[in-house]
Order: sequence, then C-alpha cells, then structure tokens
Amino acid sequence: MHFHDSMISLVGNTPLVRLNNVTAGLEATVLAKVEYFNPGGSVKDRIALRMIEAAEASGELRPGGTIVEPTSGNTGVGLAIVAQQKGYKCVFVCPDKVSTDKINVLRAYGAEVVVCPTAVDPEHPDSYYNVSDRLVREIPDAWKPDQYSNPNNPLSHYHSTGPELWEQTEGKITHFVTGIGTGGTISGTGGYLKEVSEGRVKVVGADPEGSVYSGGSGRPYLVEGVGEDFWPTAYDRNITDDIVAVSDKDSFQMTRRLAKEEGLLVGGSCGMAVVAALRVAEGLGPDDVVVVLLPDSGRGYMSKIFSDEWMNDYGFLEEAGDQPRVGDVLRRKEGGEL
Ligand code: PMP
Repeated sequence: MHFHDSMISLVGNTPLVRLNNVTAGLEATVLAKVEYFNPGGSVKDRIALRMIEAAEASGELRPGGTIVEPTSGNTGVGLAIVAQQKGYKCVFVCPDKVSTDKINVLRAYGAEVVVCPTAVDPEHPDSYYNVSDRLVREIPDAWKPDQYSNPNNPLSHYHSTGPELWEQTEGKITHFVTGIGTGGTISGTGGYLKEVSEGRVKVVGADPEGSVYSGGSGRPYLVEGVGEDFWPTAYDRNITDDIVAVSDKDSFQMTRRLAKEEGLLVGGSCGMAVVAALRVAEGLGPDDVVVVLLPDSGRGYMSKIFSDEWMNDYGFLEEAGDQPRVGDVLRRKEGGEL
C-alpha cells in the first residue's frame, strides 16, 4: 500500500516547473519552485514543522502545550496543521484588518483566533503585539515561535528547500530569486546554495517598492507577505547578492499572467518574484538556470488580485500613464467615496 502517515509527511519536496510563456525572448531556463503543493498551501509549512520539532526537542514546547503567534496568514496555517496533528493547541493573534476568510481558515483547522484593533498604538494594552505577549505569559505551557527571530525559520530552508533545489537541478542552478518577508527563505535556501556551489550561485531578493530591503522607509504597498519596515534577525543580509524592487502594479499584472499563460494560480508575492527573476534572466545565456520560488496559491487573493474591480480601483489594469497612488486610494475608500 502507498500512503503517508499524516499530512505532516507531505511538507516539502515540492515540484520545479519550467516557465514557458512569460519567458518569451529569454535564453536562460527559468524554473519555478511551486510551494502551494505543501499541505497547508504555502512555503510556511516548512518553517512551522521545523520550529515546532525544535521546540519539542529543547523542551520549550511540552505535551499538550499551546502555540501563540501573532499571524494571520500562511505561517498560521502551517502551525495549525502541525499542531493539530501533534496534539497542541494554537492561539493566533490578528489585527482587525485581516479578512474574515483568512480568520475562518485558521478556525477551520481548530485554532483559536484573537482579533485586536488596528487603530491603537503598539504600546496600547489591546495592541496586536501586547495581546500576544500577554497571552504567552498567562496561558500555562504557552510557547511563541516568533518566525522573525527564530533560527529554525532559515534553518528549515537550509535543510529542505536548498538541498531540494540542488538535487532537482543536478547542481546546474546559477541564480536563486525569492521574495523577502521574514528573510527566512532567502537566508536559508540561499545560504545552502552558496555553500554547496562554493559561491557560484547568485542569490537575488525581490522586494516591494517602498520596503526597507530595497532602501525604502515603509511607503504603503499592497503585495502581501513580503517587504518589511524593520530588519528581522531571521534575515542574513550577507547572503543576498542583489535586490530588485518591484511595483505593486507589475507584481499583480504578472500574477494574473502566471494563471493565464502558465496555469499557475499563485499569490501576489509570486508575481513579484517572477518579475524580478525575468529581470535577472534578461542578461543571461542558454546555460543559465534561474530558479524562482513561488510561496503560495492564488486562492487567497480572489477578491483582490483576481478581481477586475479591485485592480481597477488602484489603476493596476491600465497599460501605462498615471496611476492613482496607493495612499490616495486607501484614503478615498476610508472616506466612503468608492
Ligand atoms: N510570500 C508570502 C505570500 C509569504 O507569506 C511569505 C512569508 N512571510 C513570503 C513571501 C516571504 O518569505 P520569508 O518570510 O521566508 O522571507
């Protein structure tokens, strides 16, 4: 009989797929590492598994304990699945701007979700940050993974994503391109690839225009899961050779093209990473192999990137010319004009 013991054993070993159409005119081979094949639908299952197993081994997470993390997205799903299979409870803390769909996904896996007001200062007792810290103090046997500072976030990629790519490309990978959120993917995968290739593999980060990694100060952008307004310790900036800044408009237009032209229904940070990968590939020849990591599926973005109305509100469907600024559109929406 051929079966897996549980969903946990399906984490990792995701496929590598060649991009054939958005790459028209390029000589290099561009391959996508499609992370939505993970059981929770994103790359974050990898870090969830390793962070939990390391905490079990160190004794920080005890049998029947509770995992508390401020997250609303992919990391929450990964933690919820691994926790459920291993008998831990999960409490996630989310700001109230998070869509009810995302909150309901976490609840569907059996997690508890505490929703906090967005419109209070970080120092306020009800803020997202303070509530999660208080829950960790008050819940018996609580443990907070903290993906931004947990070394097992980058280590999960060092031990899984990196070796998988080296093996899948038979050591022929020349460039690795990925978005930077916590920095775990780029630091761990890039670090392994640099080590195994003795520095030959170039590592390129993709970043939303305005985020700190590409020299910004935090101007609002809409692509989710990437970019920061601070430097997390999970990010090792010595690994990155270059950073490519990509606009929301370019990211989302490419995201839609990936569905239409490659059969890949993926999230906005995937479109962003592909734009960066194609820019990298432009100057390369037929022996170059560019791998771009696509973190999640497009299913979570149907009412945004895949909605013409939403795209039009921001001018993202226009071919060229003036485009409304994100801040202006958000203000108009808040003022009830749209
Ligand atoms: N894209 C999406 C959709 C994500 O959820 C994340 C994780 N925050 C990333 C990209 C970036 O990955 P990392 O945190 O490893 O830098």
